[in-house]
Amino acid sequence: MSSINFKPITTLREPTELAAHGLVPVADLPNLEKVAARYAVAVTPDVAALIDPDDPQDPIARQYIPSAEELAAQPNEKPDPIGDDAHSPVSGIVHRYPDRVLFKLVHVCAVYCRFCFRREMVGPGKATALSEGAYENALAYIRAHPEIWEVILTGGDPLMLSPRRLAEIMADLAGIDHVKIIGIHTRVPVAEPSRISREMVAALKVRGATTWVALHANHARELTRKARAACAAMVDAGIPMVSQSVLLRGVNDNAAALEALMRGFVECRIKPYYLHHGDLAPGTSHLRTTLEHGQEIMRALRGRVSGLCQPDYVIDIPGGHGKAPAGPSYISPVNSFSQESEQPPERRYRMVDYCGDVHLYPPEP
Ligand code: SF4
Repeated sequence: MSSINFKPITTLREPTELAAHGLVPVADLPNLEKVAARYAVAVTPDVAALIDPDDPQDPIARQYIPSAEELAAQPNEKPDPIGDDAHSPVSGIVHRYPDRVLFKLVHVCAVYCRFCFRREMVGPGKATALSEGAYENALAYIRAHPEIWEVILTGGDPLMLSPRRLAEIMADLAGIDHVKIIGIHTRVPVAEPSRISREMVAALKVRGATTWVALHANHARELTRKARAACAAMVDAGIPMVSQSVLLRGVNDNAAALEALMRGFVECRIKPYYLHHGDLAPGTSHLRTTLEHGQEIMRALRGRVSGLCQPDYVIDIPGGHGKAPAGPSYISPVNSFSQESEQPPERRYRMVDYCGDVHLYPPEP
């Protein structure tokens, strides 16, 4: 690969542009054109500047630069891997859990992640933003369901909207009495931090509901000085933040990489929230780990950082059945007792501490 590494001034969307910036070998272009014809590509100047073109294993490149491996979809991979469609009562809404809905306003993102579970839905040429009529229908659905306490604006990336439009939407949602929480799931503070302008921060704050921003980042190097400043602008404005990450092979699938990422979040006043197991999205098997490896890493992480830095390792059950905690278990029973015995013995448990040592509870039988 060429070692040309000059920062582009616009977002790179074509494989030829990636090659011109030394981010992919020219010889790979025929395959990468096929990938790009199927899945959107976008690498912002901020992200391109983070990539080391001389490192074939670069953890930033693996997240954003297309690869010929994406052409090898596996039989168990599905276009809608977490079953959004099965829970979509009206266009733009996913109502999977009683008290919350996803509200998918736009289908574009600042960058396109190679592991995205909505990769068949996002990007130019896929769907477009909701029409005004579909938007009003979605609002009507939320109004008609008083059990909806939380509305999560998600992807595409809601911070691709203009501050003016976002402010209107926030006001519409906060105007619904039972909507108390508005979540914003975004990659923009990392991918294009300059979008987090004073106007954008102002748009996120709304009377009548509390805004939570969930930042998606997967490697500590994504938390650049500019990304940290963008997050600080939101937190300083009183907007609480949580993190979302995906466990990705070759990006963060070791305890040291996750430790650095989680410490980085906490330093930015962002509470680590979810670490997602990779979804069965088409052409992403090269980026997935096994569940066992994920559990091993989580066990190691518990030995390295405090509870403040611990995300919940979760997996979305294919078919739309929601999330299941996927972390390792630390407690298991060592004896069983019969319901028929008159005085059942007190149950004892085997417990594993952060060093991996086993203890019994209670210590004495
Ligand atoms: S920013 Fe989110 S929705 Fe957009 S491509 Fe990445 S993971 Fe998918």
